[in-house]
Amino acid sequence: MLLEGKTALITGASRGIGREIARRFIEEGAEVWGLATKPSEGAKELASFAEQKGTGYHELIADIGDAGMVQSVISQAVKDSGGFSILVNNAGITRDGLSFRMKLEDWNDVLRINLTGTFLVSQIVSADMIRKRAGSIINLSSIVGLHGQGGQVNYAASKAGIIGYTKSLAKETAGRGVRVNAIAPGFIITEMTEVIPEEAKKVWLESIPMKRAGTVTEVADAAVFLASDLSTYITAQVIGIDGGMGA
Ligand code: NAP
Repeated sequence: MLLEGKTALITGASRGIGREIARRFIEEGAEVWGLATKPSEGAKELASFAEQKGTGYHELIADIGDAGMVQSVISQAVKDSGGFSILVNNAGITRDGLSFRMKLEDWNDVLRINLTGTFLVSQIVSADMIRKRAGSIINLSSIVGLHGQGGQVNYAASKAGIIGYTKSLAKETAGRGVRVNAIAPGFIITEMTEVIPEEAKKVWLESIPMKRAGTVTEVADAAVFLASDLSTYITAQVIGIDGGMGA
């Protein structure tokens, strides 16, 4: 098992990509703390799966865009877990709309949760990792952060910000045993992409060289690789998981 003896914190673990990363980490032997804004069925399923596998799953509730809440919930989780060896900053939202009529609130919410939330959680977890001189941080960016997407200026800016953040934090922590990488998925089937209108989905699928959407497991497998000791010389990288779309 690739992650035996490791402890992982995953934000946005109640569904979609985050839940599958949690499932795969448990399958590989990790003990997982999964965070979302409210209790979920997904968390219950992960807890019983972890029990079957002889490890543990712990549900955390917080809004990662709320600095006070992050401070209390994440600091406590760092204490309870004895410190995390893996952090996956996966929680994210969209508030799509054309730029000229986008409300400031929709701009601010997306930046606050996707980008500032990643910073707030990482700041607490990485301080402990640095003390221990070991850790792997994986941030969820997006192909949209690399190439842009009409109707998603707020989301694209947050995901491009995550790339700059990832590379900079990686440079700060590389000498202290902590690796920081980003994953940039293309079109993955989850609740986030279910809301895309059918016509727009068709156009997206046509533009993918592999002519299909990706699965959550295909993203989670890359997270397992980056979290594990199979990637000990990899830091400050952005791995595209997009069926060739970003090439
Ligand atoms: P999703 O199905 O919408 O799930 C989002 C997760 O984030 C949920 O667990 C949600 O939990 C959590 N979350 C949202 N706001 C939060 C907050 N303020 N505090 C804490 N948790 C919060 O999304 P997904 O499709 O799995 O995407 C996961 C990540 O991959 C996102 O960062 C997304 O931008 C990125 N991504 C996805 C795709 C794709 O095609 N799906 C492509 C590129 C990148 P609750 O709502 O239950 O609290």
